[in-house]
Amino acid sequence: MKLLRYGEPGAEKPGLLDAEGQIRDLSAHVDDITGTALNPDALAQLGAIDPTKLPRVDAATRIGPCVGSVGKLIAIGLNYADHAAEANMALPEEPIVFFKATSSICGPNDAVEIPRGSTKTDWEVELGVVIGSRAKYVSEADALSHVAGYCILNDVSERDFQLHRSGQWVKGKSHDTFAPMGPWLVTVDEIADPQDLSMSLSVNGHTMQDGSTRTMHFSVATVIAHLSQFMTLHPGDVIATGTPPGVGMGQKPPVYLSEGDTMVLRIEGLGEQRQTCTLA
Ligand code: ZN
Repeated sequence: MKLLRYGEPGAEKPGLLDAEGQIRDLSAHVDDITGTALNPDALAQLGAIDPTKLPRVDAATRIGPCVGSVGKLIAIGLNYADHAAEANMALPEEPIVFFKATSSICGPNDAVEIPRGSTKTDWEVELGVVIGSRAKYVSEADALSHVAGYCILNDVSERDFQLHRSGQWVKGKSHDTFAPMGPWLVTVDEIADPQDLSMSLSVNGHTMQDGSTRTMHFSVATVIAHLSQFMTLHPGDVIATGTPPGVGMGQKPPVYLSEGDTMVLRIEGLGEQRQTCTLA
């Protein structure tokens, strides 16, 4: 099942994508696609609906972030060996965890805003993991049973704010529109193996990132089990699991985003995002 949210920012309605790629309105069945709609029972109820009986939605409608009311947006740093190498950083012994402000979440095709004073706004295509049931002190073996589904997430990053402005990476990770999410939340039944998904990102038609979740250092299961030793994961929480090589900071010389640049992101089975950069 491919769940989505559509409509104006802040007023999105729940929907799903039918087998023909047509958006259908789920408003009669669920208030919104948030944590409470993502537990296994709720998902089973949505899965039992015949999509052809649901109202069609205009294909030109804006797609919003695929999860609403996200409680925590957690990200994992340097989780691909080849990306750690391009960043000139050692591969961590245990997952590097940081937060992005949830106010950075936006729709998959919304404009990405370059912050005031920014000279180093960069891209990161990532596998987003959406939690479906409460996870506290879970084992690696049990971890994936707490996942509702997966989505594309662009972990947009201002490198100077991230690395040279004191304190945590959160400063460079949290500007409005720095977390395009979606287009769809693809439920786990459609993703046979989250560790075998090709992923890519292009800027103005040039492929910059071309990788696979196969080279992820800490797997999705390891990351969930690890996080759950430190904090309880709640339904609707989202984890950005790290990026493969090819970010702007890793180019020789480095390349960063400018007004008018367009990023296109793809992950196998999860659809496509497209963002054009504007100035804040
Ligand atoms: Zn990242």
